[in-house]
Amino acid sequence: MINLKINGFEVQVEEGTTILQAASKVGVKIPTFCHDPRLVPHGTCRICVVEVEGGRNLPTACTTPVYEGMNIQTESKEVVQTRREILDLVLANHPLDCLTCEKSGRCTLQDLCYQYDIKETTYVGERKDFEVDESNPFYYNDQNKCILCGKCVYVCSQLQGTEAIGFAERGFPTHIATPFNQGLEQSTCVSCGNCVSVCPVGALMPKSKEKFRYWETKTVRTTCSYCGVGCQMDLVVKDDKVVGVDPAMGASNEGLLCVKGKFAYNFVNHPSRLTTPLVRKDGKLVETSWDEAYEVIANKINETKETVGADAIAAFSSARALTEDNYLMQKLMRAVVGTNNIDHCARL
Ligand code: SF4
Ligand code: SF4
Ligand code: SF4
Repeated sequence: MINLKINGFEVQVEEGTTILQAASKVGVKIPTFCHDPRLVPHGTCRICVVEVEGGRNLPTACTTPVYEGMNIQTESKEVVQTRREILDLVLANHPLDCLTCEKSGRCTLQDLCYQYDIKETTYVGERKDFEVDESNPFYYNDQNKCILCGKCVYVCSQLQGTEAIGFAERGFPTHIATPFNQGLEQSTCVSCGNCVSVCPVGALMPKSKEKFRYWETKTVRTTCSYCGVGCQMDLVVKDDKVVGVDPAMGASNEGLLCVKGKFAYNFVNHPSRLTTPLVRKDGKLVETSWDEAYEVIANKINETKETVGADAIAAFSSARALTEDNYLMQKLMRAVVGTNNIDHCARL
């Protein structure tokens, strides 16, 4: 174990722990743009710099391991001054259109500029002028807002495993792009939106049908209903309407989603969606109770079995249901109804 001090607090952590992890253990928050505990630390944004007694410069908390007797200050005068300078440099190339930016209210850059009291940049000069890539059906990439934290690139390569995007060019024109700048639609991108979910600013944003501010919404933790993986997600809800989805940390998805979980949520609010069982009466489908629906199903199965035989009946189960439910469905068909006519939509 390593003993150290953070802002005067005595901390004991395991060898190999970073300053950022040690600080979080004692409830000291260090700001980050590029950090994600699931990624290999890369220290790209440098906003997490801290002061270490006896050190020659300010190391990044996310990449620096602690050592015995370390004495760290996370908000010293020099640290604050350096963070203000970093924000000033970031803003030198940022549109500052928070009034109409969709990310307003949930933007790490906005929050840190507020925290460190930076209203505008002191730098004057050329500005980025990239064409917004709107070729993906679900999200857009506006590189004029990108702060080059690299999170999207590493999430795509290290977690999603697609490697659809990367850093293009060097120096001033550096930006996040698909190979040969061919646009997202022509790339290997599978539209999982995991890059969108981690972008700390408004550079990668869903093409939402709704206009909303995050402070008008609440989140509801749920399980994706599209397939049996059981990904955990937070529905973003405004006035009882789902307006977005964020991945949540679950045992099976570890904060990732696929295109269906992330973007295909509009069916929830669709007017044609079935919300009650229907039975056909006099040739017309009418709403009914679950009790009546089950009675109709049971009567029809029994009637068909008696008059034509069990093999005239088939059941088609769903990948949206649990594995256990699918198991019960085949058991019901084989053991109770008496037929092997059972199938599952996963065989499509
Ligand atoms: S949507 Fe998914 S596959 Fe496409 S660039 Fe983002 S992380 Fe990569
Ligand atoms: S697009 Fe977003 S996540 Fe990607 S590098 Fe830029 S700011 Fe970071
Ligand atoms: S997000 Fe995708 S992988 Fe996860 S449960 Fe939903 S459909 Fe399955």
